[in-house]
Amino acid sequence: MGCETRQIQLDDGTTGTMMVCSRGQRGERCSVGLCGKDSVALCDYPVERDGKPATCDSPMCERHRHPVPGAVDTDWCEGHWNFEQRQRAKVAEEAS
Ligand SMILES: [Zn+2]
Ligand SMILES: [Zn+2]
Repeated sequence: MGCETRQIQLDDGTTGTMMVCSRGQRGERCSVGLCGKDSVALCDYPVERDGKPATCDSPMCERHRHPVPGAVDTDWCEGHWNFEQRQRAKVAEEAS
């Protein structure tokens, strides 16, 4: 899930651009420690919040977002991406 730039009509008849994010607030910073870049997307990794299915929603910058192969408009944060890589490595190891 990411942010996009949209053309908007201003009151005085001119057009301007606006950042529209599908979720979360604008101006959030990347959740990776010491990175601090503007976030461009939120983590879509499925988690449980208050007993209900939700998504991680960690803000990620362009460098730290990880598009999920085969999934449209789905990105994972650094932590969840690494977690999945480890899970996959483990499964591959157990299978061999
Ligand atoms: Zn970052
Ligand atoms: Zn995440």
